[in-house]
Amino acid sequence: MNFLEQRDSSSWPSLAVTTSSERSQERRGPKALRWTRQEAMEEEDRPGLEEGPPSRPAAESPRLVATFLKATPVAQAAPMAGVGTPPTEWDFFPPDCAASAAGTSTEDLGLGSEFLATAAWGYELESLAAERPGPCPSPQAPLPRLGWDDELQKPEAQVYMHFMQEHTCYDAMATSSKLVIFDTTLEIKKAFFAMVANGVRAAPLWDSKKQSFVGMLTITDFILVLHRYYRSPLVQIYEIEEHKIETWREIYLQGCFQPLVSISPNDSLFDAVYTLIKNRIHRLPVLDPISGDVLYILTHKRLLKFLHIFGALLPRPSFLSRTIQDLGIGTFRDLAVVLETAPVLAALDIFVDRRVSALPVVNEAGQVVGLYSRFDVIHLAAQQTYNHLDMSVGEALRQRTLCLEGVLSCQPHESLEEVIDRIVQEQVHRLVLVDETQHLLGVVSLSDILQALVLSPAGISALSA
Ligand code: AMP
Repeated sequence: MNFLEQRDSSSWPSLAVTTSSERSQERRGPKALRWTRQEAMEEEDRPGLEEGPPSRPAAESPRLVATFLKATPVAQAAPMAGVGTPPTEWDFFPPDCAASAAGTSTEDLGLGSEFLATAAWGYELESLAAERPGPCPSPQAPLPRLGWDDELQKPEAQVYMHFMQEHTCYDAMATSSKLVIFDTTLEIKKAFFAMVANGVRAAPLWDSKKQSFVGMLTITDFILVLHRYYRSPLVQIYEIEEHKIETWREIYLQGCFQPLVSISPNDSLFDAVYTLIKNRIHRLPVLDPISGDVLYILTHKRLLKFLHIFGALLPRPSFLSRTIQDLGIGTFRDLAVVLETAPVLAALDIFVDRRVSALPVVNEAGQVVGLYSRFDVIHLAAQQTYNHLDMSVGEALRQRTLCLEGVLSCQPHESLEEVIDRIVQEQVHRLVLVDETQHLLGVVSLSDILQALVLSPAGISALSA
């Protein structure tokens, strides 16, 4: 699908059912945009599409499962910015980008490895198993970050920032979605199994003593629990069997009160992008300001899809035609990767150390052979294999009930528009940037794209904060 393809919003059916929280939104007028029920379902947490296979049903049920319907007024997206100017000139391509440079590792290469992937497009990891280079960045091959900085000087760079400032979280909420809520007294194992059984990646936590939502349970919690309590394949992780969510939170938070990061449906989508990226979270609950109910959970994916659909009604900025390599949108240094032969435990170590959402999986030659994401870790719960963290990452990927073919990737010469189209179409959170021989060059994540398109034009650098 082309990024510029126009959508006929009038063909989208409206819903007849209106909930009380929706009625409180009706005053919002025609600015809000509608999402079809089908799109709502597409945006659901769908194991198997983004990062792994559908999950096997688990034996336990969650305490609460609620479905909220949303009826939204019809509206049109209005052009927000000046007409895009034709591309003026292509940014130079630094000569050192043609050179090759070695990746470096700071970890035991027999386990998970963190590499410094330089910006050199001829990046090689051939000596992967042979040596343990130090953690120095390659000063000779910086990625031309100025490409995007140059674009920011042009008024058209602000088109998506304005659009997201002018629309609210309510506009991007699905008309219908499944929401799973856990009481904090639920046993942690049951909660993780319930997440798997319901195909959700996060659940708001309800504290019945406080009569409020106090946090979210996500796959990151599962990773932290495993990381903290796993001893060996022979020792059962009794903490998973016995702890309640509230016990885990007490141990993990150690008395530090951390309020739930949330947003109001009246807040702008710009605020939502900022909140997600600044807090380095991937699930942002939208709370009804009056009742305090959770109405929806916003994600980067939902926000980019919103921008993708309605951005097509805006004047097309010329930077969309520029290559990822020119613009330098993504991460190209200090890449966190894992060897396919490394144990899953090593991947968990990296997830705990680095707040990245996925690890490119590389072979001994440094070629990307897969992607191990945080989401994949929940399959350990689905398959009850969380006592076998010595299993290799390659084996864990093969054990996914649905094996994704290859890795979703992009190449440096592809345009930003092509990259965005692929990310939206494949419903993934990131693409791995590789050269023509599948050697790793970088990661282009939804966070990078939203930071560049929405926050950078406002002079905000939340990703590096
Ligand atoms: P994400 O958590 O995927 O939304 O990404 C947050 C930031 O981390 C973005 O700038 C990504 O480019 C970057 N990132 C994602 N995965 C990796 C990785 N494996 N190694 C280094 N950086 C990454």
